[in-house]
Amino acid sequence: MKKNGKIYLVGAGPGDPGLITVRGKALIEKAEVVVYDYLANPKLLKYAPENAEFFYVGKKGGAKHNHSQDEINTLLVEKVSEGKTVVRLKGGDPFIFGRGGEEVGVMHDHGIPFEVVPGVTSATAAATYAGIPITHRKYTATVAFLTGHEDPTKPKSNVDWEKLATGVGTLVVYMGIKNLPVIVEKLLANGRAPETPVAVVRWASTPRQKSVMGILSNIAEVVKEERIKAPALIVVGEVVNLREKLDWFETRPLFHKRIMVTRTRNQASSLISELEEQGADCLECSTINIQPLKSYDQLDGELERLSEYHWILFTSINGVKYFFERLHAKGMDARDLKGPDFGCVGKATAELLFHYGISADLIPATFTGEGLAKSLLDLGVEGRNILIPRAKEGREFLPETLRGAGAQVVVVPVYQNIPEESQAAMIRDRLSQNTIDMLTFTSSSTVNNFISLLGIENSEELQLLLHGVRIAVIGPVTAKTVVDNGLAVDVEAREHTIPGLVNAIVEYYLQRK
Ligand code: SAH
Repeated sequence: MKKNGKIYLVGAGPGDPGLITVRGKALIEKAEVVVYDYLANPKLLKYAPENAEFFYVGKKGGAKHNHSQDEINTLLVEKVSEGKTVVRLKGGDPFIFGRGGEEVGVMHDHGIPFEVVPGVTSATAAATYAGIPITHRKYTATVAFLTGHEDPTKPKSNVDWEKLATGVGTLVVYMGIKNLPVIVEKLLANGRAPETPVAVVRWASTPRQKSVMGILSNIAEVVKEERIKAPALIVVGEVVNLREKLDWFETRPLFHKRIMVTRTRNQASSLISELEEQGADCLECSTINIQPLKSYDQLDGELERLSEYHWILFTSINGVKYFFERLHAKGMDARDLKGPDFGCVGKATAELLFHYGISADLIPATFTGEGLAKSLLDLGVEGRNILIPRAKEGREFLPETLRGAGAQVVVVPVYQNIPEESQAAMIRDRLSQNTIDMLTFTSSSTVNNFISLLGIENSEELQLLLHGVRIAVIGPVTAKTVVDNGLAVDVEAREHTIPGLVNAIVEYYLQRK
């Protein structure tokens, strides 16, 4: 029997992908078709199943409608009639100036089952993210949402300006930027005080948010000067003055800083999310792709004689991950590792090791290969058997130093780094458009891979492309690789971890405020 289709009209929230509802996200996760708008953040599409169909029916306001409402309705009816589960994703709340009522009205007329999931509407989000509570016991008990899109001079307006101008405390106007001078005129003509504070907020709740403030009598001029365009909301009322104290979003330390994060695809997310927490606009750029090896014969041989080792050393998270994956694939687990002691280059590596059931015996005070070598030399390694599972392309410093001190060292590759060619054009474009404030590097291999991806050998050309871009690194080894390539380091983490790097970046920008 053919499955029955159903449509879910879902509010995507105002822009910040974290502001979708739990229910909305769960519905995207089971969608077979997603039909989305200009104002619904496309980042939300990543929750959909991989084989879902996506339709962008962007409506960018004014006359530039890409798809007429009739075409959208026809598409929705067609997809549901195929028996599909359709999510119609709309910016903000679908029933607030979103034509949601019209769309589900059509579904009703066709006998198609539907549900509606409300969303955080952009009016409340814009006010909140600009530090403006839309109601406040001291200033107002009423708020109205209205559209500024209709021509306020037309004889029979749906907006009763006379009553609204003084009858409501806070007014929030959607789609009003083009008509702002007329809206101001209507409010003034109907008795609202010229010194009433007004804020205009563009791209609310996103890293691109920009807010300006003024009073009724000058806001149109401010908006023109600051070149504020749609999508933006106009907030009118005494509560706007609270922004001076309550602005929490645009005052975060990394707000309006665009940071290119070069990491391996598998690891980029924690650095990105911590930078975003501080307000940064991050661009992920994967320079290397971590891949398993084609053959694990060498590691398999070492796994047979683990009891002969005094030490196993891990110099990266991926070393731990791929070592344990192979161990488990061979039917072994942490109980087979009770002989040797374990050393880790840093905290994050030790945490992952702990996750696999082993407490690190040694973590150096400085989280580098040099730090690890020094701690081991202090303990004495003469005559010790040491195993180092790590990347196929690693540095020779640690094994050479330990051998020099009389240890027998076996280096066994457990994964490999493959350059990510597909990113090169995007990276070059963004750098040459001068849209990047800072680049981060968390290992020497990301520096080398980044530069080889750009395909620039001449260091003057490299300096020119990176002119004005600050460089932040996780520690001294990575810093040296940057300098060896003819570039300057602006920020070096004191603690060689991701949180340490984020702290150093925040401090750097705070000092420059
Ligand atoms: N249903 C949507 C509104 C759609 S009408 C909601 O509930 O938010 C489109 C208008 O919404 C835009 O012209 C603008 O005024 C406003 N808008 C939507 N998202 C916005 C954002 N992130 N920042 C500022 N204004 C936004």
